[in-house]
Amino acid sequence: MADRSLRGIRLGAQSLQSEEGVVFMERTQYTYACTSCGRDTTLTFAADAEAPEAWECRTCGAEAVLRVGDKTAVVDHSEDKIPRTHWDMLLERRSRPELEELLEERLAFIRARRGAGEDVTAQKIGA
Ligand SMILES: [Zn+2]
Repeated sequence: MADRSLRGIRLGAQSLQSEEGVVFMERTQYTYACTSCGRDTTLTFAADAEAPEAWECRTCGAEAVLRVGDKTAVVDHSEDKIPRTHWDMLLERRSRPELEELLEERLAFIRARRGAGEDVTAQKIGA
């Protein structure tokens, strides 16, 4: 670095490290075809890396599928998780007869309070 002047160089903007003698990793480019907008997204991977079958489209964010030759890879979605709703989770913890019983209990409680003239509008029905 002694042979170079720092004058006029914005520090931080450029690297003073030279690429001399640097051996680059071998790289391969893979193209992904978007399933939504149809545009291609090209990515560079290390040659020994296994390219994923799907990538996010750079244009629209939808799923883009790896091109293999003139076809696209088939993406296996069978292991994708389907989000569970609160209802699903509730059914995992309690059976329907149990829920019916709880509902009856809760309704009886609310009716009793209403009969006593208490305000129940602000109360939530606990499950
Ligand atoms: Zn797209």
